[in-house]
Amino acid sequence: MIKNSIFVSDLKFSYPNTQKLVLSINRLEISEGEKIFLYGPSGHGKSTLLNILAGVLEVKEGTIQVLGKNLPELSQSARDHLRGENIGYIFQIFNLIPYLNIKENILLPVMINKKRAGNIDYSQQADELISTLGLSEYAHQKVTDLSIGQQQRVAAARALIGNPKIIIADEPTSSLDEKNTEEFMKLLLANWEIRKFTLIFVSHDTRLKKYFEKTISLPEINIT
Ligand code: ADP
Repeated sequence: MIKNSIFVSDLKFSYPNTQKLVLSINRLEISEGEKIFLYGPSGHGKSTLLNILAGVLEVKEGTIQVLGKNLPELSQSARDHLRGENIGYIFQIFNLIPYLNIKENILLPVMINKKRAGNIDYSQQADELISTLGLSEYAHQKVTDLSIGQQQRVAAARALIGNPKIIIADEPTSSLDEKNTEEFMKLLLANWEIRKFTLIFVSHDTRLKKYFEKTISLPEINIT
């Protein structure tokens, strides 16, 4: 039987500083190893939902199971551990550390969360990722000397290191032109084919739907 990676029911969420209900989701299920395109116009709660699933935002109403653990029952620190060990994040803004080289940037998550790497040789995996993402010839350069497209590939490798079970990509192609977007999508999905992580890919750009079998529209599942 295929297990759920994410299971949400009866979720209601408002930011503590406002009364406005931002999310109300009756049911959302994402299976292990599934790749999902989550889309919706700006302001419909995409980032909010991702931050809830990643355990950054605290939810008081509803069930939010991530890898079998119900987030509302966990402390902030338990949620931080769950995220650090199991979730890789790719952002629109790359957040690379300018004074570290490519490989050092990629290795950061496993330096911080030793458990993320488990028993794998993460230095070797970083080299493999550098190679599969077409970055070998730049490996020892400063990240600030890379093009935008290359920097986003480093950010993807940093999310993939240590084989997290879930990858959350929040508008990762928004700063890229069409050619770099296509290249980024191909490389990300080639990695998904190999590693079969659960991929939640968020974008307002519906042209990217074509890369995914399953699509979730946030305005449709959000019944606020
Ligand atoms: P999207 O990612 O789809 O653009 P967001 O999740 O960023 O949407 O925002 C959804 C709604 O929540 C918006 O109305 C936004 O103004 C509101 N919102 C986002 N962040 C905060 C915050 N920190 N405090 C209060 N309201 C917020």
